[in-house]
Amino acid sequence: MVINKINLLKMLNYYQQQAVTIKHNSVLILAGAGSGKTKVLVHRAAWLTSKYKTDSIVMVTFTNKAANELKSKVNKLVGRQYHFPWIGTFHSLAYKILRINYSVADLPNNFQIIDNNDQIRLIKQIISTNNKYLNIIPNQAMYYINKKKDYGNRPNVLNNSIMEYLYKKYQQLCNRNGLVDFSELLLRSYELLNNNSMILSQYRKQFTNILIDEFQDTSYMQYLWIRKLITSKNNIMVVGDDDQSIYSWRGAQSNNMQIFLHDYPHTNIIKLEENYRSTNNILQAANTLIQHNNIRLKKTLWTKNNNCRDEPIVIYYALDQFDEIKFIIKQIKLVRNAGISLDKCAILYRNNTQSRILEDILIQNNIPYNIYGNVNFFNRREIKNVLAYLRLIHNHDDDISYIRIINVPNRRIGKKTINKIIELANTKNISFWRASNLIIKNNILSTRYNNIINNFLNLIRELYSDVFNKPIYLQLNTIVMNTGLLKMYNHEDKIKNLNNVDNIKELINAAYQFELNYNENKLFLLQSFLTYTNFSIKNNNTSINLMTIHASKGLEFLYVFIIGMEEDNFPSKLSMSINKLEEERRLAYVGITRAINKLFMTYANTKFIYGKKIYCQPSRFIYEISNSILNIKRIYYHDSSN
Ligand code: ATP
Ligand code: MG
Repeated sequence: MVINKINLLKMLNYYQQQAVTIKHNSVLILAGAGSGKTKVLVHRAAWLTSKYKTDSIVMVTFTNKAANELKSKVNKLVGRQYHFPWIGTFHSLAYKILRINYSVADLPNNFQIIDNNDQIRLIKQIISTNNKYLNIIPNQAMYYINKKKDYGNRPNVLNNSIMEYLYKKYQQLCNRNGLVDFSELLLRSYELLNNNSMILSQYRKQFTNILIDEFQDTSYMQYLWIRKLITSKNNIMVVGDDDQSIYSWRGAQSNNMQIFLHDYPHTNIIKLEENYRSTNNILQAANTLIQHNNIRLKKTLWTKNNNCRDEPIVIYYALDQFDEIKFIIKQIKLVRNAGISLDKCAILYRNNTQSRILEDILIQNNIPYNIYGNVNFFNRREIKNVLAYLRLIHNHDDDISYIRIINVPNRRIGKKTINKIIELANTKNISFWRASNLIIKNNILSTRYNNIINNFLNLIRELYSDVFNKPIYLQLNTIVMNTGLLKMYNHEDKIKNLNNVDNIKELINAAYQFELNYNENKLFLLQSFLTYTNFSIKNNNTSINLMTIHASKGLEFLYVFIIGMEEDNFPSKLSMSINKLEEERRLAYVGITRAINKLFMTYANTKFIYGKKIYCQPSRFIYEISNSILNIKRIYYHDSSN
């Protein structure tokens, strides 16, 4: 590809240029927030395209939102017509490798990804089959299984542990149904590479350049995965900031930079020290805060941004949570009136649960928002139901989808009948679909239920022949019309004042858009769409962003509001009790450094927890910052109508 190398370098400082053009085959870029680490990776990917094919460049980051941004930034530099199939998250790349090599990985060609909710459903199903699992809490079992997988461990029942038995059963069920959870994606693709030297050497040859963003938060399994692909012939560049290591609770190896340097001792280290993102006040706040941590690699961060009109950091001491959000709403309205698009702003919080009051008040004030995290668009109940039909008609053996919709809309199928199907499936080790067929064939149920189940099976078969080979959006249209879902949700919307139908229309829209932009092998279109619904967030670009600080990593916003700056919330109580205060402080550092122009931090004096009013202390992080920064504006609660 011909690219304008001079233009590509013009936008970078000397050290960034060195990093982009370096010939060394192992490089670690260690630098603070906003110093252009991600920018270097983007420019490096573009730079490499003059010599390497786009499908030889692997670039990995942490979240889907960040991955989308990487892709679009590289495309902005080299032109929209180029396709970079290997830019993504670890999970999406692992998925891709499995999809290409599904049969060697011992998966059916239509294998599907399941999320945590589906995992819990499967686990509950197993627990209900045998009294020996009675005392197991599904959530705990899920964490147990995922953790095992994250450390590369398959079930081991030799030690007679009940959890291991459950893990084994769970995996058998997943295998039988062609289901793959998120941890399995990494483990299975790692095993695929590890056990098949031909496939491994093919990828090692293909992936000439591997670029990893947010390296400080890679997990044990992710690192094994990367290491598997590295040889002396390909180039690896990892970038990270130890001060932003915030995922140790989810298995990130906090010392992975040291491990990397140990494994690749000839690594060239590049440091970037100039911050381009934030104002001087924001940077000072971040620097003073993080200096309270003891365990750090030495780094400095400065900015030329020495504007005397630099906005002060605002700390608002609210009377209670409602007053806190009201203050924020007022600020948001000011920002909007100044002509700034709300998608350039973010409200960040320590815990997902903090978004509830926030959402209520944003809705009351007609302020549109996108929320990233637990309840993303594709996780909504109505969307999952429609998608479950789509999955089931293309893969009758998908038990999770089967169980989800067997009685949606209501077909008057009770628990008893469903249990009969599950029991038969378990004894014969077959899918629910096959068990239902057997039940009908052998007239196990009363005529009435026999007919109901038979009608359901016929509906699915008919849907398949109706939608076969049609564009996905038309398939979805047929599904919602012919299953009675549309009618059901229309009715529900009317009586409960909900937006189910609008959301379904939005799903059909998303499918249409997806197909329009799809430029890979058509054979995988449906699979890719279903994967997209697992990996993606749908957003609207005029809405304010709501997310946990964890989810904000790598992103930047003109205006940032960090709410709930109270002791026991941030830092969280748990973090103090398990000695994780330094990680909590790093999290605050991440939150603060997301801000470009202005940072607000709010604290509520009282809060309701489980219906009880409690008094809170301001977060120690507020004091740690403000002790040495002059440019802070403190606003105390004065009038809630204000
Ligand atoms: P984080 O640690 O938060 O992920 P980062 O080090 O990856 O931050 P980037 O997101 O790459 O930082 O860059 C921060 C901001 O600074 C971006 O808006 C980027 O475009 C800008 N930037 C980086 N380098 C330069 C430069 N040399 N000239 C102008 N702007 C720059
Ligand atoms: Mg970055």
